[in-house]
Amino acid sequence: MFLFIDRLGAIEELEYRLGDRVVDVLRRARIPAASVLVTQGEAILADSQPIDPDSSYEARLIEGYDIGEIRARIHMSYPDPEGLPFIKRRLLPNITGDIGVEAIATNLESLAGYLIDVLVDTVTRFKLLEAGDRLLVGLSGGVDSSSLLLALDDARPRLPPFELIAVTFEDFDSRDQPTYKHADTLAKLLSIEHHIVPAELVERAFGLNKPLRQILPDLMATEYAPMAMYIDHHTTRRALELFAEERDINKVALGLHVTDLLAGILNSLTTGYTVASLPMRRVGKIDYIYPLAFTSKRELHLYHQFKTGELARHSYPNAWELKPLDRNLYYYLADTLQDYWPGLENFIFSSHNLKLRREQPVQTESCSNCGSTLVVQPFMPTTVGECDVCQVLHNAGFRD
Ligand SMILES: [Zn+2]
Repeated sequence: MFLFIDRLGAIEELEYRLGDRVVDVLRRARIPAASVLVTQGEAILADSQPIDPDSSYEARLIEGYDIGEIRARIHMSYPDPEGLPFIKRRLLPNITGDIGVEAIATNLESLAGYLIDVLVDTVTRFKLLEAGDRLLVGLSGGVDSSSLLLALDDARPRLPPFELIAVTFEDFDSRDQPTYKHADTLAKLLSIEHHIVPAELVERAFGLNKPLRQILPDLMATEYAPMAMYIDHHTTRRALELFAEERDINKVALGLHVTDLLAGILNSLTTGYTVASLPMRRVGKIDYIYPLAFTSKRELHLYHQFKTGELARHSYPNAWELKPLDRNLYYYLADTLQDYWPGLENFIFSSHNLKLRREQPVQTESCSNCGSTLVVQPFMPTTVGECDVCQVLHNAGFRD
């Protein structure tokens, strides 16, 4: 028997299964292990203690908050979906200090309509687009960028008139990858201008002594392995910027979604790393916009399925995409937080922007090698000169 006893002495029997540890029993009941002290007779137990089905356990609440009400609200946010594929959930702390719960089961069609409403809302509220904008969509062919292109095309009649140009960077994933073919097919289907930025553009801009598609795997055998993913992202973004600058394109839209942005804010909270405003930020001469800032990855997958009739295929990750591990932790935590507090992004992104407004303006510098704009971080040396990507490429011997 496993009993949970709160501060008022109320007793609840918790369910346990063969092979459970203490922490598993608590997690299933949405009780944080840090909130309780667990005993078996006189003995105090560690979280990882395996449960003996013939023994008795008591978990006493040691924190002084109303865990019952919080567990009840989280539980209420998971109603019976009645066979529908998605529940839109929101926990809403309000001005009276109470927490409201919204949870609605939807089919794919309603979800797609909702996703477009949210995109139009985001673009309107944050003034992401103005009439006459030339907007570049970074289209890798993955689910995020494909859904972004589809959604912008869908929402177009409700947005200010803008030019839409899809651009794919010819990086490691080159032209025989299914994601690239998907990008190409999609742009043709929507009759959207589609360009390929050749890999040589990046090689010239960064002064590389061999192709990036060789450098990234080579880096994995060096001490700089955890940097390879950042280098991949940084060089792709720079390629898109250079392409945009040559053609008077003033905005770049990327398919970053809730978890991407939440993970960045968690990183910023724990390290002091400066994260610029959301969902629009000026980087050099370009405005970066994130029209999917308030959309979850799962919503993007379902929208993609609704629009194309097929679930997005995941390409097998490159070796460097599973590193560094701290970045993976921020993603894991960002997703877990959404389980407990769906809709958190509506609060945390606004509070992030408010905080930025009270602080000194974000300072930027230009990299003397690749020309990219860097946000000056509190722990950077006063004169940077080159961005950390260019420094790694130099130190690892990949620059002339
Ligand atoms: Zn650089």
